Amino acid sequence: MPNEFCEHCDKWIEIPVLNGNDKFTLLNILRNEGILYAIKFVKDQNYLELKESKEFVDHICKEKGTCHKCGHIGLWKEYGICTECKSLCINLNK
Ligand SMILES: [Zn+2]
Ligand SMILES: [Zn+2]
Repeated sequence: MPNEFCEHCDKWIEIPVLNGNDKFTLLNILRNEGILYAIKFVKDQNYLELKESKEFVDHICKEKGTCHKCGHIGLWKEYGICTECKSLCINLNK
């Protein structure tokens, strides 16, 4: 399982390898139905256990390049550390 380090949480976050349309689906759920449904999706698809699902989803940017935590704009890589709040930012949409 790949993982990425979050400087804000000071811990490694497990990153599942999402297959097929699951990246797209997950992002849509996160945007339209909310974080709890996104966590449930990751868990129900057997990508991660509940705790790890929450940690993963907590770091996904709803809008590409916009930090999920502080709203800072400017992170365009798939994975990056926000220069403002030091959170790991995951951009599912490349
Ligand atoms: Zn974090
Ligand atoms: Zn930030």
